[in-house]
Amino acid sequence: MYVPDEWEVPREKMTMCRELGQGSFGMVYEGIAKCVVKGDMETQVAIKTVNESASMRERIEFLNEASVMKEFNCHHVVRLLGVVSQGQPTLVIMELMTRGDLKSYLRSLRPDAENNPGQPPPTLKKMTQMAGEIADGMSYLNANKFVHRDLAARNCMVAEDYTVKIGDFGMTRDIYETDYYRKGGKGLLPVRWMSPESLKDGVFTTNSDVWSFGVVLWEIATLAEQPYQGMSNEQVLRFVMEGGLLERQESCPDSLFELMRLSWQYNPKMRPSFTEIIQSIKVDLEPCFKEVAYFYSEECKSRDQEEFDMETENMESVPLDPSSMLQHAASAADKHSGHKVENGPGIVLRGSFDERQPYTHMNGGRKNEKVLPLPQSTAC
Ligand code: ADP
Repeated sequence: MYVPDEWEVPREKMTMCRELGQGSFGMVYEGIAKCVVKGDMETQVAIKTVNESASMRERIEFLNEASVMKEFNCHHVVRLLGVVSQGQPTLVIMELMTRGDLKSYLRSLRPDAENNPGQPPPTLKKMTQMAGEIADGMSYLNANKFVHRDLAARNCMVAEDYTVKIGDFGMTRDIYETDYYRKGGKGLLPVRWMSPESLKDGVFTTNSDVWSFGVVLWEIATLAEQPYQGMSNEQVLRFVMEGGLLERQESCPDSLFELMRLSWQYNPKMRPSFTEIIQSIKVDLEPCFKEVAYFYSEECKSRDQEEFDMETENMESVPLDPSSMLQHAASAADKHSGHKVENGPGIVLRGSFDERQPYTHMNGGRKNEKVLPLPQSTAC
């Protein structure tokens, strides 16, 4: 069942202009929509359609998949603008991302690419900007208790002004089908983007999203090479579970590789949160990031304050000797599993970006457990 709601747009407000590409349910068009964005008479949009031959069930599945996006309102997550569920064909109206998906975009920037738009490969500044935008979209999703599970360059989209955003969910399994693998009777899995714990136990958390973010950084730095090229999916599975990591390319800037290194900590709790990632690169981001990012929004600040207050309340009975503090921090992280306390803008979480932190990527090889901030703590 799909019940029309405030997202419903009258069909006569829509005009299709040209094909953008084939989606899993049907063709996606570029088009124009009247009055779908406040203050805009006409907006250029992407219009997703369902094949005429689709069953009622498929149409509802298509609408329900799109409906997930109704919950989100973030500059760095591709926006749903409306739905035409009444009559045929069923349409879903999305923010138009004229430069397509990030994977194809990065490949087009290779010097020998046929469709190179005449641009040089991205500079470190541009790559960092992409990282910040993706981390901001992910930080927003995480704050809304949403675990992506399939973060990859193919699932990010590039806008006309080159802003990178998290794309709508459930897309692109068709175009890049070699990026997915069916593991022992399970659904298709993006094994090359998956963390060791997701590969082992099928557990996905914000921490495993951070691992995938590290792989996206690697895709950005390599102009979308295939991760673990030359290895079979089964080999990748074993390699990653045993602590293997993607190689650093010679041309990869230090700061970008440092972010990858942190995102690929074997222990999920030692990986930085998306907020911490933005915190660490914010000085290198374009000034306009401050105006549009979730990271700088009131919504983010108030949520952080709430979480910090909750954490402080829970800390009241913490004994004050350093060793028990460490234990408490570890168990607090356990309690939050998947939803760690995030440090907001202005609050620095000590430990996470310590350059002296050893490069630990083997189980049991951890030396510096991540310490959550404790009130009046002098121990970390
Ligand atoms: P689906 O989610 O239905 O499988 P996809 O997201 O894979 O569809 O999209 C199919 C094609 O449409 C791809 O070429 C993709 O780049 C393009 N596309 C999808 N969404 C947008 C958008 N918001 N803006 C621009 N192009 C888009």
